[in-house]
Amino acid sequence: MSQDYHHILVAVDLTPDSKRVLERALPVARRNDNAKISIIHTLEPLGFAYGGDIPMDLTSIQDQLDEHARERLAEVADPYDIPRENQHVVVGMPDAEIHRFAKANDVDLIVVGSHGRTGFALLLGSTSTGVLHGACCDVLAVRVGAEGEAAE
Ligand code: AMP
Repeated sequence: MSQDYHHILVAVDLTPDSKRVLERALPVARRNDNAKISIIHTLEPLGFAYGGDIPMDLTSIQDQLDEHARERLAEVADPYDIPRENQHVVVGMPDAEIHRFAKANDVDLIVVGSHGRTGFALLLGSTSTGVLHGACCDVLAVRVGAEGEAAE
């Protein structure tokens, strides 16, 4: 069995597409001598969402959002036996945090979902494009959304 990849990072936005993205990563891990799988979800910092301009302490709300995201991530990852210590919720911008995690943890493959955008939406860019640009390792973009289902 070849082992091109040792540590696969699956990035999920916690939409129903997440299951599809994770399910694409699992056989890749199996083919690579059961490579380690980590799964990550990033939460936007609350202050950032409101322009960093709110004169109140948002820490406890951020903590609640964090806890809620952990529960939702576990709902996605537990059925696939991804250990809790490999499930990560971090605060920040998705592409930057995914890159940071990948570098810090010797990830050699990042798996993301990608909506096949066309026209104006293509110009706006996307998380998957952001992850691809500047990644320090291979990136697998899994087609998701309505077009992804049609491709089945
Ligand atoms: P796109 O639709 O091309 O912007 O990319 C969507 C994909 O980016 C999702 O399927 C995830 O793989 C990843 N993604 C988007 N938002 C997040 C997030 N908050 N945390 C982790 N991954 C994300």
